[in-house]
Amino acid sequence: MNIAFIGLGIMGKPMALNLIRAGHTLFAVDIVPEAVEAVASQGAVVCKTPAEAARQAGLVLTMLPNSPQVRQVIKGPQGVLEGLKPGSVVVDMSSIDPNVSIDLCAKVEAAGGEMIDAPVSGGEPKAIDGTVSFMCGGKAQVFEGVKPVLGAMGASVVLVGGIGSGNMTKLANQIIVAGNIAAMAEAFALATKAGVDPEKVFEAVRGGLAGSTVLGAKMPMVLGRNFKPGFRIELHIKDLQNAASAAEALDMELPLTAGILAQMRALDARGCGGLDHSALVQFYEEKEGIEVKKQ
Ligand code: NAD
Repeated sequence: MNIAFIGLGIMGKPMALNLIRAGHTLFAVDIVPEAVEAVASQGAVVCKTPAEAARQAGLVLTMLPNSPQVRQVIKGPQGVLEGLKPGSVVVDMSSIDPNVSIDLCAKVEAAGGEMIDAPVSGGEPKAIDGTVSFMCGGKAQVFEGVKPVLGAMGASVVLVGGIGSGNMTKLANQIIVAGNIAAMAEAFALATKAGVDPEKVFEAVRGGLAGSTVLGAKMPMVLGRNFKPGFRIELHIKDLQNAASAAEALDMELPLTAGILAQMRALDARGCGGLDHSALVQFYEEKEGIEVKKQ
């Protein structure tokens, strides 16, 4: 199948490579020329604009940082809407504000297309393995049509509800992940400050109730002082901000999220926004004069 793929960063690149491996023909776009090199070397056609890519394909996939970039790529100059063929489907896999998904879906439908919001969970390792989890919103019939393509990149592809509910699910997911990372950072800072070997603490707790996918993936990074993303703090700030505005629109408070957001913003202000979100531990390390690491 001919597929336009826009946004070939940490997640987009390996996901695109999995589609090529599954036999699809890709029309790739990214504003950073080097980003398309890996897919171009595997046979993807490099396009200059989203409009040019959309003209070649019945399915348009986007994997971009946040709402402003998705808006720009879909309805900006030389955007997807300028090249969209009638009946084409746009699947936005970025994690964005659910209200923007709803707005963009209306624009795509007015142009004769269909849209699904399909953010993912799993991070770069699962993007490489083709085992991310998709949480989707949109019409059931449109979802069924794109499910096999998403299945080539993910182990789980779930339709949650109407358009926007994929991104609402992703916000819930990001609150859970942030909460796990924040608890991990606080707990291991305490153990380290008390003079207890954090590696032994990890070994002791990982198989019990405190064990989690987050703990198993992120604690070895902390202990090895490897904060190469993975998932950047600045992207997690974006997700928690989107969660805060979604809650505000519902006249609801998110006290836990607000606390973690403040910690992440403090790190971002110190120039750590480009580090993996496991670097949240540095919030405590700086305050307490400790380093959580292998002894
Ligand atoms: P990234 O910054 O590595 O990649 C985004 C890509 O989009 C970059 O290559 C960038 O050059 C390109 N881009 C930006 N604006 C563009 C435009 N106007 N036109 C064309 N290309 C443009 O980000 P990522 O880590 O791949 O994340 C992408 C999305 O997936 C985000 O919404 C993120 O929250 C979500 N996500 C990331 C992870 C993760 O672990 N990295 C996990 C799950 C979900």
